[in-house]
Amino acid sequence: TSTLIWFRRDLRLSDHPALDAAVKRGGPVIPVFLHDEGVKMLRTAPAWRLGLGVGHLARSLEDKGSRLILRRGRGVDLIPKLVEETGAGAVYWMRAYDPVSVDRDRDVKAALKEAGIEAESFPGHLMFEPWTVETKTGGFYKVYTPFWRAVKDREVAEPLGTPSSLPAPDRWPESDALEDWHLGADMDRGAEVVRPYVQLGESAAQARLGAFMSSKVERYDGARDIPATDGTSNLSENLSVGEITPRQCWHAGLRALEDGKAGAQTFLQELVWREFAYHLMWHTPRLLYDNWREEWDAFPWNEDERLKEVIAWKRARTGIPFVDAALREMYVTGRMHNRGRMIVASYLCKHLMCHWKIGMEWFEDCLIDWDPASNSMGWQWSAGSGPDATPYFRVFNPETQLDRFDKSRDYVRRWIAEGQDNPPREALSYFDAIPRSWVMSPDDAYPDPIVEASEGRKRALEAYENRDF
Ligand code: FAD
Repeated sequence: TSTLIWFRRDLRLSDHPALDAAVKRGGPVIPVFLHDEGVKMLRTAPAWRLGLGVGHLARSLEDKGSRLILRRGRGVDLIPKLVEETGAGAVYWMRAYDPVSVDRDRDVKAALKEAGIEAESFPGHLMFEPWTVETKTGGFYKVYTPFWRAVKDREVAEPLGTPSSLPAPDRWPESDALEDWHLGADMDRGAEVVRPYVQLGESAAQARLGAFMSSKVERYDGARDIPATDGTSNLSENLSVGEITPRQCWHAGLRALEDGKAGAQTFLQELVWREFAYHLMWHTPRLLYDNWREEWDAFPWNEDERLKEVIAWKRARTGIPFVDAALREMYVTGRMHNRGRMIVASYLCKHLMCHWKIGMEWFEDCLIDWDPASNSMGWQWSAGSGPDATPYFRVFNPETQLDRFDKSRDYVRRWIAEGQDNPPREALSYFDAIPRSWVMSPDDAYPDPIVEASEGRKRALEAYENRDF
């Protein structure tokens, strides 16, 4: 019988254990991707980027004489229906770890097993399954450094290759047309502005990894903190939809370490931050929805999205250059430098005293490397409500940060047009991307700060000291 391969956030053919097992099982392989209406985790830019990735995967499958069958509905209904239509004897997929997908997958597995169909999920989105990393007392890790120590010397299996052929069934089941799904139609900015920044598919991801290991890794330790420099791997976009696997990156990192390349160790540590985020999300799914430390429920967060401060922050008109530059970078490129992410998050949560969920959701609207675990962990870390978090009283000063990490002001000039005689292309492209209703022009005067760095810091600290928790 044939095997259904249910693709999700694993848009690749190489190092794909589920696909590998399907080929080994023998018989035709039927690749499927579902627009699952039971899993509402897709919005705007991430949905748009996923759609591009799915189209690319479909073309890669066609090159191998195969196809990608698209269906829209609920996974629990669609998978058994496809099994019935195709007479498949097995369904294989790569594991997901967010609570909604975990519940869905459990239900699908139960339904298939009841019908006598083989159903198997495979690891690969992570290197270390969250339940396999335990503290001495059998609990899970809440702090990064001991987590890193627990996993750093573990054997990580070598990545798998790409199957040389994928046997096709005699008759293909019907498929939706990807265009009809209109993924990302709710993106309120010009997708054509963001498109040039996208690096789509497995070979682009491998090229990124190769470029990083052949030159950037040597300077990574210093350059990774300077947003004006292209000093990091940029692999988060591809990791987020599974166009590359963490263990492909890990093994490349290990080889660089053996070759004595500076920066390789830090790169491995960063990959483990991603694993740690998934570890936390899997053990405590509230990381995605609620203050991880419940005492933060009593904090007087501003939660009103209509507040003028929130609007100014989203539109990147706070009058704080580092904050605005980073928010504009995200709006135009779909990505933001890690230093920028920390600064804009700190400014929103501390200077503006707004709930981290507002920022987390805005990132979810804008990022093409959106990842549920890393995004929520990053926001709760910045807000102080997370398990391994910056204390609330440690308020990032966006002005001193600018002096330290954008001394030359190259980054700020690249992204903020106002006040420049000849603004660079990137700064102007922000105005092509934004909706007209924002009524902003590069000829406007750059605004005064909506909340001064020192005043915001004082206010945040007072609120923190007067808290009743
Ligand atoms: P590199 O420096 O080249 O690092 C290599 C890889 O390590 C990254 O691709 C990523 O997978 C992982 N990594 C690095 N730093 C972190 C980190 N702090 N947490 C988790 N994994 C990390 N990352 C996302 O992938 N998606 C998100 O939605 C996301 N939201 C964030 C929100 C906030 C508020 C903060 C502070 C951080 C967030 N991050 C997120 C983490 C980090 O900013 C990005 O992973 C990083 O900037 C990606 O760039 P890169 O691929 O060039 O990273």
